[in-house]
Amino acid sequence: MNQRDPRYDILFEPVQIGPVTAKNRFYQVPHCNGMGYMRPNTLAAMRGIKAEGGWAVVCTEEVEIHANSDNGSAAEGRLWDDGDIPALAKMTEAVHEHGALAGIELVHGGYSNANNYSRIPPIAPSAISVNSYAPVQARAMTKADIRDFRKWHRQAALRAKEADFDLVYVYAGHSLTLLMHFLSRRFNHRTDEYGGSLENRVRLFREVLEDTKDAVGHRCAVAVRFAVDELLGPKGITSENEGREVVEMLAEIPDLWDVNISEWENDSATSRFEKEGYQEPYIDFVKSLTTKPVVGVGRYTSPDTMVSLIKRGVMDMIGAARPSIADPFLPKKIEEGRVDEIRECIGCNICVAGDWLSVPMRCTQNPTMGEEWRRGWHPERIEPRESDDGVLVVGGGPAGLECALALGKRGYRVILAEESEELGGRVSRESKLPGLAEWGRVRDHRVVMLEKLKNVTLYLGSSLSTEDILEFSADDKFGFSHVFLATGATWRRDGIARENREPIPGLEHVSVLTADDLMLGDSAHGKVVIFDDEHYYMGGVLAEKLRLDGHDVRLVTPAPDISTWTHNTMEQGHIQKKLLELGVELAPHHNLASVHPDAVELSCVFTDRRVRHACDTLVLVTERLPNDDLYRAMRADPEGIAKSGLKTIQCIGDCLAPGIIAAAVHSGHLAAREFEADAPGEVPFLRERVML
Ligand code: ADP
Ligand code: SF4
Repeated sequence: MNQRDPRYDILFEPVQIGPVTAKNRFYQVPHCNGMGYMRPNTLAAMRGIKAEGGWAVVCTEEVEIHANSDNGSAAEGRLWDDGDIPALAKMTEAVHEHGALAGIELVHGGYSNANNYSRIPPIAPSAISVNSYAPVQARAMTKADIRDFRKWHRQAALRAKEADFDLVYVYAGHSLTLLMHFLSRRFNHRTDEYGGSLENRVRLFREVLEDTKDAVGHRCAVAVRFAVDELLGPKGITSENEGREVVEMLAEIPDLWDVNISEWENDSATSRFEKEGYQEPYIDFVKSLTTKPVVGVGRYTSPDTMVSLIKRGVMDMIGAARPSIADPFLPKKIEEGRVDEIRECIGCNICVAGDWLSVPMRCTQNPTMGEEWRRGWHPERIEPRESDDGVLVVGGGPAGLECALALGKRGYRVILAEESEELGGRVSRESKLPGLAEWGRVRDHRVVMLEKLKNVTLYLGSSLSTEDILEFSADDKFGFSHVFLATGATWRRDGIARENREPIPGLEHVSVLTADDLMLGDSAHGKVVIFDDEHYYMGGVLAEKLRLDGHDVRLVTPAPDISTWTHNTMEQGHIQKKLLELGVELAPHHNLASVHPDAVELSCVFTDRRVRHACDTLVLVTERLPNDDLYRAMRADPEGIAKSGLKTIQCIGDCLAPGIIAAAVHSGHLAAREFEADAPGEVPFLRERVML
């Protein structure tokens, strides 16, 4: 084993948190995951692996304390009564097995919950509509309601202790919590002792903190999660005024301060909008006001930055949600002197999408995320090879790189052939677009790991034809018996996608470019119209790029807003704002009906009312077609295949079905795991079923 760099020793010092001791400074802060109360086995296995990977504290997501705070179909944690204890105890057991502390983030969502499931009218400091567009209003809490809320929180804390948690949170970390609603002048218009002055608005927070300490403080540390800045300027809490004053008022009451910024989309900002450490300027004052340990987040993946944060007195423990998802073994890798092996989070928020979609989260960088229990995948371990057969992987994009890496770790002899002079495929191309540089980490991590494997050989500048593959397969030196085709996909240039199932008429009249053309260096000229019928990031990113290049740009989409799927990655608001500020003309709710010399005709998706706009270059962001020519040519030559001795040929990644990068990585990993393994069952993974 390598030696740990002594510079990082400070990260492995224990930290006392009230009555419990964390073995080091790595702290997995609460994070949602789309597993929650619906999938307790999935959740426990995922959290257990974080503990195994060296995180000293492993926390839950938000855990509802009562049916009065019901997140509906969202798969959050739930501790409404004693019946919910066993599911959560599974997690504490998995975490304790590896010597880590388990933390629970108790929440009442106040006016953030429409209570669609429980049908109980939501509560808030003052009467107010709920924060979704649901036709539901919260009622103003009476004194009796306040007493009830305190009682529910106390009961939940006791149940958390029963479930064997070591840290219990009092949560005011996002504007989604009742305690934050009380703190906020925007939502709290009370005239009693719980409203008005900041002292009054803090009252309930203080009371609940004291209740929790009283209930469980002898056994559990009581942590606070508090958003010191809402990024709303004078309208909200800021770190210069009330955020700071709240910390001053409560400084020594909690056993730990976990501080961040609000809303969630600011807290979990993507790399497209914020870089590592973006929260530091907001939270760096906290340590000067308390002697209690302080935790902060900022997508930290660099151990040097972590050491600097500790030494500069910004925080005592390094908080991480996404970095712990991308690499559950991040602390272990630093501890064991394997810093170069850290699989760094790329800040894409595909994990967050899992929560919004109420399915177990996935991760672009870590294909085992969410598969720990249902498929038994471990991020660091994989079944050894079943035979001495050699494998050829064609294509060095995310799917090919991941497949070669996982097969290489299994011990197979692998050849990876890539036609260009650079590995990474679409990731290398896309990471050159504005804001997406960190996405290159998908390639970088895999290249570093592949270069350590003596049984994997990489060939760049190797464009393989069917003949090449058949010929090389029988070669004495290079021979292989199995082929994985990871040859990617190509953006269509006929406009076919969701809105138009036939080619768009008139495309011959203007210069048409696809996303591939632009990424490979073609230039637009004159007035540019981008038609986005794909709806993730590409249309918006190309609009940004072309506007920055100096073009007049109009972005047209049939969807209600720009890059609409990015609501799931919490980027939509940032993207639309940025494009508007850059001066991009936006045309949501419009289809591209036809193309004419120097103009496009758009149609309203509701009324079909037509409008024309000048256009010299039309950029189509619609669908992609799999690059599966090689596959089809090989399948068309069964004799050649029989003669060559090839046993299997399989498409993976975008060449199988174009999708997001996370899907390509997962596809490559899945193929490697399933290679020469027992055939999976009809449903290829375990499910958590309701027991009748
Ligand atoms: P995925 O997302 O599925 O990994 P990409 O499009 O990112 O797909 O990567 C596909 C890679 O395959 C590209 O780097 C491309 O250059 C390479 N490639 C495509 N066809 C061939 C071929 N015939 N021989 C070698 N490499 C190929
Ligand atoms: Fe990071 Fe993206 Fe993985 Fe989330 S999905 S942990 S943002 S790499």
